[in-house]
Amino acid sequence: MIKFLDLQKINHEFREELLAACASVIDSGWYISGGGLAAFERDFARYCGAEHCIGVANGLDALVLTLRAWKELGRLKDGDEVIVPANTYIASVLAITENRLVPVLVEPDEHSYNLSPTKVRSAVTERTRAILPVHLYGRLADMPELMAIADQHNLLVLEDSAQAHGASIGGRRAGSWGHASGFSFYPGKNLGALGDAGAITTNDAKLAEVLCALRNYGSHEKYKNLYTGVNSRLDEIQAAMLSVKLKYLDEHVSRRRHIARAYLDEVKNPAVQLPTWENTEQHVWHLFVVRSSRRSELQEHLTAAGVQTLIHYPIPPHKQDAYRNYSSLSLPLTERIHQEVLSLPMDPTLSMDEVGGVIDALNSFK
Ligand SMILES: *Cc1c(COP(=O)(O)O)cnc(C)c1O
Repeated sequence: MIKFLDLQKINHEFREELLAACASVIDSGWYISGGGLAAFERDFARYCGAEHCIGVANGLDALVLTLRAWKELGRLKDGDEVIVPANTYIASVLAITENRLVPVLVEPDEHSYNLSPTKVRSAVTERTRAILPVHLYGRLADMPELMAIADQHNLLVLEDSAQAHGASIGGRRAGSWGHASGFSFYPGKNLGALGDAGAITTNDAKLAEVLCALRNYGSHEKYKNLYTGVNSRLDEIQAAMLSVKLKYLDEHVSRRRHIARAYLDEVKNPAVQLPTWENTEQHVWHLFVVRSSRRSELQEHLTAAGVQTLIHYPIPPHKQDAYRNYSSLSLPLTERIHQEVLSLPMDPTLSMDEVGGVIDALNSFK
């Protein structure tokens, strides 16, 4: 079986270094909010090209707490509209509704799967206060255009960079475009911890300060609470794991790109629609997503050929029971995408033989 993603194999590459990093945390006697977190925050901010990085417990909290911080700073208030792609993972939308803001679900660009600047322009109303672009599947959204729209209408921009560590346009990476950016280090992400973890990057010192308090009970100073905060801290152990893996992130991205190149060059089957890739640096291939109007047949064919695939995602947020109130929205492109997408194995430890096996299986689908 060619696995979709083999986390055991991925982390095995770093086993000795991870064990040594664990041992050093164990021996330090300091497990929360210590030097290991500060070091990772500094290194990850530098990696993204941002001034500040604030580690939190997971990617959802990174988004929730950033919007919450903007409310504390008086930049957002209950009922403000936030533009978000309709075809995203539900976490992007949850971050909005959790803060009693109103998600405005916008259809994506059919080929990039990301927010289309044209459709964003027509979705802006006098109640719009923010845009939450998602760099879906690892492809950086059209940030130059989206930032221009935001500047024109005085909107805040929160990037959802959970799938796009290292993706860039003109040398500027995810995490350095918006007014803030949320990252996830869920184990299966391109930069994955060995448990839950997340972070926010920003150039806004004031925002960084509020976020540091919010993640720690709303406290800047021990036993003094300015906000009704939460406990959402990134553990020393996970920070240590992430510091080890950050060193290898670029190498893993380049292996992902190599695999994507092979799929794009060698899959030749009109029943399988391939993703587009115009600009090398813009895509870090968190997921390699093909489309087919006969998706379930294709998935069965691949399973029979020993190729594991997944669907990202089977049901769009507005069709989830949790969002019953949005179920009458008409988002036909988003709905069609959810019926047609299929994610191929994409794992930096795949051998080119295995990649060849996936390609042969796709080409033999009739
Ligand atoms: C994974 C993911 C998140 C949430 O990250 P967690 O760390 O699992 O909370 C948010 N948005 C997108 C697009 C994601 O893929």
